[in-house]
Amino acid sequence: MGQTLIDLEICGRLVQLKAPCYQCGEPAVLDGVCSECYDKEHPLIEVKTPLTLHACKSCGSVKIPGGWKKLTFASADSDDLWPHQLDILLDIEVKPLVHGIELTIEEEKRLDRVLHIILKALGQSHKDLPPHEEQYSVEVRFSYGTCDTCGMKSGGYYEATLQIRVDERQLTEEEEDDIVRIVTEMTIAQYEFDDKAFVSKITSDKYGMNFQMGSDHLCRSIADVLESRYLAERKQNYKLVGQDKGGKDKYRTTILIRLHRFGIGDFVRVLDKPCQVIEMSKGGLTYFDLVRRQRFTMNPKSSKWRTLEYLTAKDEKREFMITTRVYGQPVQLMDSKTFEITELDESLFDDDIEAGTTVYGLIIDEDFYLLPRE
Ligand SMILES: [Zn+2]
Ligand SMILES: [Zn+2]
Repeated sequence: MGQTLIDLEICGRLVQLKAPCYQCGEPAVLDGVCSECYDKEHPLIEVKTPLTLHACKSCGSVKIPGGWKKLTFASADSDDLWPHQLDILLDIEVKPLVHGIELTIEEEKRLDRVLHIILKALGQSHKDLPPHEEQYSVEVRFSYGTCDTCGMKSGGYYEATLQIRVDERQLTEEEEDDIVRIVTEMTIAQYEFDDKAFVSKITSDKYGMNFQMGSDHLCRSIADVLESRYLAERKQNYKLVGQDKGGKDKYRTTILIRLHRFGIGDFVRVLDKPCQVIEMSKGGLTYFDLVRRQRFTMNPKSSKWRTLEYLTAKDEKREFMITTRVYGQPVQLMDSKTFEITELDESLFDDDIEAGTTVYGLIIDEDFYLLPRE
């Protein structure tokens, strides 16, 4: 391909002339036709009209060959879903005939279930020709149904149950909020890729919380995160619930995550010494040893872990005020509730501590332990 030229010999010299377009007579540029006629014969895209957009009435997902395409969470939040749904539909229905096309949609008329749009395509029908724009008038008809995910969810389908329990106490509000947040975030993250990424039921009672989940895989990954976040005990079991269409046994998983009686701020004993829990994470339990006045981190697999026992709740700490601070002398403090005065060795305090400062302490078996500053 290239420019269409005619070779002419004029006065003994070879001259090349542009041939006219055989369709319209304008100078031909490609394959014997002008650029306009070439563009007409080589459209940028192919699209049918009318198109039907099958959408889920509950979540807005769009039916595509082989399944449902979910809207991303950001777009599912907005009131007007159709531009996002139309993007999905056009992605399937518009057949590009050349590379590098830019598509824009202009709303022409919108009725309840029918939408008229002008679809504009910008591109080059041939690399030697300048870009041009084509316009297509397309009618989109909406039809509504229920997607697989919403169908399973409303039918109460679940593959796995996640149970959250705690040792000898109830879940705190903070823990409940934290767990719900983790479950929600991880479900949303999986939602786009996994049709079963949903929670069909959440219950909460004095024993803890239960989540029924559509996806076994999702349930396991959430359990992994909670297990390491709370350094919790994990138990898993399976129950045969029937057979699938192929005759294969179908199981339902139950994962139990048991949190420790102690939480952050509570007191425990490690190697028989009173300690305050500072942090729990994948790396282990970080605590402040109230005798050695130092922070340590231990792994649940360590031998020290086996000496770990619950001591008392964080509310047991008491508030004191420094009443007298003279260098080289014991520090005097007053219990904020009982107004009792205690004297403590100054080595227990930071050098910059001054009279009037509030500190916290824990009394165990009549011994006073100064808590690390928050
Ligand atoms: Zn022409
Ligand atoms: Zn749906």
